[in-house]
Amino acid sequence: MSSLPEYEDYEKFVELQQNLYRARFSLKVVGFAYPSAVFLIHLPSTKDCILVDSGDPENITKLLKALSLHFETFSEYKLKYVAITHGHFDHTGALLKLLEDYEDIKFIIGEQEIPFVIHGKKYSEIKGDTITFQILKHFFAEGKPIGNEDKFIVIKEGEEHKFEFYNILRPIFTPGHTPGSLSYLHIPTNSILIGDLVFNVPLVPVFSMKSSISIPISTTSVSDSKISIKKICEMENEIKLVFPGHDLEKNGISIEEFKLFAQKNLN
Ligand SMILES: [Zn+2]
Repeated sequence: MSSLPEYEDYEKFVELQQNLYRARFSLKVVGFAYPSAVFLIHLPSTKDCILVDSGDPENITKLLKALSLHFETFSEYKLKYVAITHGHFDHTGALLKLLEDYEDIKFIIGEQEIPFVIHGKKYSEIKGDTITFQILKHFFAEGKPIGNEDKFIVIKEGEEHKFEFYNILRPIFTPGHTPGSLSYLHIPTNSILIGDLVFNVPLVPVFSMKSSISIPISTTSVSDSKISIKKICEMENEIKLVFPGHDLEKNGISIEEFKLFAQKNLN
C-alpha cells in the first residue's frame, strides 16, 4: 500500500478519464489515514464544471486551494454544481465554504437526504439493519446541517432527468449507506462515482496491506446496499469503471472486478 502523499492526485485534481478529474485527501479516522476523493467533471460544451462531494472539514482549505489551482489552469471553466453522494461529514465538509467562494453554485441531492443534509436530522436517529450499526452508530461522524434550502436541487426517484446535465452526469439512486445515497454515472466515459456504497480500502490499514472491498460498517441498511450493488452490476453495459469515494487504487474498480465482489458478498 503506497502512502497517500505519493498519489499523483494527492490534494490536486488529476484527469482520470477524459473530462473526469479526481483529487484525494487524507481522511483521519481513529489514527489511520484513509484516502477520500472529490471528483470534478468538465462539460466542454458549456464550459461548466460539476464537483462531486466536498471532502471532510479538516481538508476544506486544501480542497479550495486545489480547486483554485485547477481553475487557474482551466480559466475558461466555471463551477456550476456540487453533486452530493450523501450527507456524511467526509463528503459535505466544504459545502458552506464553497458557497462563500462560488456564490452561484447549486447543490444536487437525493430527496431522502434532505432531512440530514439541510435540516440537521442525525443518521444515528434512524434504525439500521445490522447489530454493528446499532452499536456503533453514535460514533459515526455526521455532517453539519447546511440550511440554504434555495441552493439545493432535489432529485426525486424517477425524475433524475430534471437535472440539467442528466445526459452527461446521471444521478442514480443507490441507497443503503444512507437513505438517499446517489451515485453519478459519467456517461461519456462509462464511469460511475458510487460514494460510499462500497469502499476500496482495507478497514484497518496496518493489518491489511492489500486493499479490499467491503460494505462499510457505517452503512445504515446493508440490505438496501446489496440491492444497490446489484443495480450497478445490472448496468454492466453502461459502466466500465467504478470509483468509490474511498479508494486506494489509481484507476478505480473495473465492472468485472465489481461483479466478482458482488457475487461473493450478496448471497
Ligand atoms: Zn465517506
